Amino acid sequence: VYVVTDACLDIQDRSCIEECPVDCIYEGDRMMYINPEECVDCGRCEPVCPTVSIFHQDDLPAPAKHFAQINAEFFTDL
Ligand code: SF4
Repeated sequence: VYVVTDACLDIQDRSCIEECPVDCIYEGDRMMYINPEECVDCGRCEPVCPTVSIFHQDDLPAPAKHFAQINAEFFTDL
């Protein structure tokens, strides 16, 4: 599963949305979120993000580890 981090905050370039084959990237108020139930791990969103906001959950930088949970919670709160 891929994860959007806070590098996306208030930028929301949206290139990732166009790249995702299963449309599992959603727009929140201040950043994008990837639905972990729907992501098929294709990796296409990661290289197109101009702010390098997207990481595989196993490759998240230490300060951004908690964003795996934050992405998942965006969908449980709906
Ligand atoms: Fe969509 Fe693929 Fe990125 Fe998952 S890894 S969010 S399926 S583009």
